[in-house]
Amino acid sequence: MGKRILVTGGAGFLGSHLCERLLAQGNDVLCVDNYFTGTKQNLAACLDNPRFELMRHDVTFPLYVEVDEIYNLACPASPIHYQHDPVQTTKTSVHGAINMLGLAKRTRAKIFQASTSEVYGDPTVHPQVESYRGNVNPLGPRACYDEGKRCAETLFFDYWRQHKLRIKVARIFNTYGPRMHPNDGRVVSNFIVQALKDEDITIYGDGMQTRAFCYVDDLIEGWLRLMDDTPDDFTGPVNLGNPVEMPIRHLAETVIKIVGGKSKLVQARPLPIDDPLQRCPDITLARDKLEWEPKVPLEQGLKKTVEYFDGLLRSNREISRVGR
Ligand code: NAD
Ligand code: UDP
Repeated sequence: MGKRILVTGGAGFLGSHLCERLLAQGNDVLCVDNYFTGTKQNLAACLDNPRFELMRHDVTFPLYVEVDEIYNLACPASPIHYQHDPVQTTKTSVHGAINMLGLAKRTRAKIFQASTSEVYGDPTVHPQVESYRGNVNPLGPRACYDEGKRCAETLFFDYWRQHKLRIKVARIFNTYGPRMHPNDGRVVSNFIVQALKDEDITIYGDGMQTRAFCYVDDLIEGWLRLMDDTPDDFTGPVNLGNPVEMPIRHLAETVIKIVGGKSKLVQARPLPIDDPLQRCPDITLARDKLEWEPKVPLEQGLKKTVEYFDGLLRSNREISRVGR
């Protein structure tokens, strides 16, 4: 039988993919979102499904609903979005976690937290293992996000110890795919949109800082396994990401190869403050507990993402032509 599942931040990039997967499994899905970075269009494939409900709600305020499971995703994820209103970002992570944990406590729902590799800050241990406690600057421009997410993890583990809640904490590493926000400033969306428009590809710093990119479908599979297939005493935190590390320059070259066109790499500006120099997940724990590892190679995932952005840019051009 299907479950009643709440997804906070469900109108965003990852949330919309999760809602689709949960509906396909036959669950009832309640999506709450304040539309800060998410949109109803992201949920186009869900809106007509009678098992789907959408509610405008800000998770910094309490929510009273009856559910069996909660996926807590609400929080802007890209640096320009989470730095736009840093106080609201911290409130979203911390008050949002308190409200959703309170809801889980009352309903005895199992609850998932979308945590992040940013809890490791600019890491001095490489690749990052879950036992590494991180190197976060608590005062810098990324702190509203990093420390908010760290505090949310603390709250999850206190509710687990104190109230015996069933918690599942995933530390997500850079994930990409269709329905990323075209203006979110994240590296994959920036490079693809720039390449499609034949604009310069904006490398920050010397482009030798590294990241490891996971395709969205692989990530969501990991979340579902964590929630469905692990015993309640496996709480995480568990790293979920693709352990194929590369310099940002390499990503840029791969995008140009796929898109074609005339774009050139330019060193557009210095590395942003506190931008981690290297990042790559150690996924030994996920392999062991979830029998999970990413399957989609970078070029294949990028091709699907390029198709999405190409369609989006074309339809925007149509809209602006109609508007004129
Ligand atoms: P996103 O910005 O597309 O989605 C976040 C969603 O949360 C949006 O729909 C937004 O409108 C909503 N939201 C923001 N504040 C809210 C509030 N106060 N109340 C209700 N809704 C609110 O980002 P995403 O990439 O889909 O990320 C989803 C989650 O995964 C986030 O918690 C993020 O921190 C985490 N995460 C993502 C990545 C990644 O690479 N995409 C990496 C690490 C962690
Ligand atoms: N970056 C870049 N050019 C861009 C956008 C980002 O070189 O146009 C770099 C950014 O400085 C960082 C990396 O790409 O080193 C990943 O940035 P993103 O904002 O996608 O994610 P995060 O820093 O949170 O991993």
